[in-house]
Amino acid sequence: MPEGDVIHLSALRLGRALDGRVLTRSDFRVPRHSTADLTGRAVLETVSRGKHLLTRVEGGLTVHTHLRMEGSWQVSPAGRRLPGGDVVRLVLANERWQAAGVRLGMVDLVSTAEEERLVGHLGPDLLGEDWDEAEAVRRLAGRPETSIGVALLDQRNLAGIGTIYRAETLFLAGVSPWRPVGAVEDLRTIVSIAWRLLDANKERPSRTTTGDLRPGRSTWVYGRAGRPCLRCGRRISRGEMGAQPQERLIVWCRHCQPEEPTG
Ligand SMILES: [Zn+2]
Repeated sequence: MPEGDVIHLSALRLGRALDGRVLTRSDFRVPRHSTADLTGRAVLETVSRGKHLLTRVEGGLTVHTHLRMEGSWQVSPAGRRLPGGDVVRLVLANERWQAAGVRLGMVDLVSTAEEERLVGHLGPDLLGEDWDEAEAVRRLAGRPETSIGVALLDQRNLAGIGTIYRAETLFLAGVSPWRPVGAVEDLRTIVSIAWRLLDANKERPSRTTTGDLRPGRSTWVYGRAGRPCLRCGRRISRGEMGAQPQERLIVWCRHCQPEEPTG
């Protein structure tokens, strides 16, 4: 599932292909905007906010997209064949490049002035220029009874973490995902680990949280349920976290990540 680093990289790729160039084609393949046409307008920029992508276009319009679970943006030279089937939700192209939004979870066209309504609820963006660690900590601390695993995924607290970075951050912090926020001694450390992991991966196509890119060695716990913990050798646990139907996979080491503070 795409997390903040992937969204950030997508924004960079879209920017390189589209920024400052006039659109020669726009094809919205979603019912709501099927008649929209941005041809003739220049693309100003694409920015990421948490897991949202905002492509700003001349004339005060913003194309708002979200990759959700399996979406991606594929950039290729103009005129190349697009991915087949009905997987393409949006095409934006200029004379040199085309960008195809594949299996996007959301495609919307709004006025740029409305952006705040769409993303204003988000907490500080881990990969944003205006990243604010203290504010993220303050928001997390605001609901002390919530388990830290649920709180880290709540984009209103801080934006950009998905299931992979949640699992890896909490492993590195030595904190069980089930521990209530109020029982976490040092929220700042957790937040700064998450920032460090996302920042280290933001411009690299293959993700690692261990510094090792070899298969099976690129994460501490994520994708390793049932296998030995790389630190203590005990078996990595897996479970589901969050209220239905929003429950999401969590993996952790019961030994390295105690539920109670060890003080
Ligand atoms: Zn362990």
